[in-house]
Amino acid sequence: MMRAILPIIDRMWNEISAMLAAGRFRSAVAAAEQLQATRRFDPALVTLSRRVGEALHAAGLWRDAEPWLAAALALEPWDTGLAARHEQCRLPAWAAPEWHDPVSGRRLRRHPPREGRAYSYTIDVVGTCNLRCPSCPVGNSPARPRGFMAPALFGQILAKIRAESPDPQPRLTLYNWGEPLLHPELPRLIGMAHDAGFGVQLSTNLNIRHGLAAVIAAAPEELKISLSGFTPESYARSHRRGDLALVLANMREVRRLIDHHGVATNVWIGHHIYRSNRAQIPEVAALARELGFAHHPIDAFFMPLERLGDYLDGDAAADPGGIIPDLPLDPRHRQAALAGQQDPDSDCELRFAQTVINHDGSLALCCSVYDPTNMLGASFLDLDHQEIERRRYAHPFCDQCTQRRMHYAGRALIDVT
Ligand code: SF4
Ligand code: SF4
Repeated sequence: MMRAILPIIDRMWNEISAMLAAGRFRSAVAAAEQLQATRRFDPALVTLSRRVGEALHAAGLWRDAEPWLAAALALEPWDTGLAARHEQCRLPAWAAPEWHDPVSGRRLRRHPPREGRAYSYTIDVVGTCNLRCPSCPVGNSPARPRGFMAPALFGQILAKIRAESPDPQPRLTLYNWGEPLLHPELPRLIGMAHDAGFGVQLSTNLNIRHGLAAVIAAAPEELKISLSGFTPESYARSHRRGDLALVLANMREVRRLIDHHGVATNVWIGHHIYRSNRAQIPEVAALARELGFAHHPIDAFFMPLERLGDYLDGDAAADPGGIIPDLPLDPRHRQAALAGQQDPDSDCELRFAQTVINHDGSLALCCSVYDPTNMLGASFLDLDHQEIERRRYAHPFCDQCTQRRMHYAGRALIDVT
């Protein structure tokens, strides 16, 4: 019997494999479901769930991968890699699977968050940056009020997060559009977060001349170093006002301080890739290896959403620094490529998985907006979590953002080609 069935299964599996490899995910899943239904108890199919689940996971179709990986894990519960991928594909317990959008009147699906499984509190402890990158609102948008978050306010924010976070162990990122290492009391803030039971994530351009030793001694859990060009000229173009020599010296100092203090800070280089610096990736990778830091090349993109929307609407003034031609993908082409690939009923991850707090304690709609019109008009301390969420979902900018496909949506199970 097995001998008769196996060629059929092999042929069907070969077809499913070919579909997955060609990006015909919807067809592949339909064929796999059919095969599974007709041969449900066939021992030759034990690897089908795993193969389909792994392929969908690799393609970023996490929500669709979940049931396949769950079935595979039931058969191979000892496989820790499989378990980790399955965990990534599950919606965290703190997130409701669906949400009513009061603006569009639709039920929205929530996909597993790609930025991490923890609910995120983004706290911009410094209200500006020392650089003026043209792809960032600090460099391309009208200035907004500057300042440092007061430790007393930070302490109240921590206490409120502890009391009402939907996730018992949320992620705390102490930056958004500001350079956190400019804060003269950053080590104290890190210590306060630790005392309250939170780890912290920092992102820095490392163009600083003071205070690095105390920050590393405070043992932040994660330190992202944002880097772009790897020659002084190309660096200063994308990290405007930046000094590459200072950054490189500080990177070595970070390594020395981590070793000196014996702290377990996870350091990684967020390498912003432009057309003009792509050839430098191996050099940065070699430096990262030498220093024991992780290296993540990331295609540079243009922010904030307000300027991106202006650009998509044809406003050339949206890019005063002229950086868009150097992006790996023009935002208009990116938006066109996204057409049909996003789940049309997906909720935006930046809306359901994070709360964003400015340096003065006021609330922003999400981490990707900058203009005063896209703040929530209240302080984090004055609204409870439900009211903050209600204001986010009622904000009209999300509808504009979604219609332009600028939002953070889950992928649709479609045949890509
Ligand atoms: S270093 Fe970061 S925050 Fe500062 S201007 Fe550049 S992109 Fe913006
Ligand atoms: S829909 Fe757009 S503006 Fe609204 S939270 Fe998502 S990314 Fe931000």
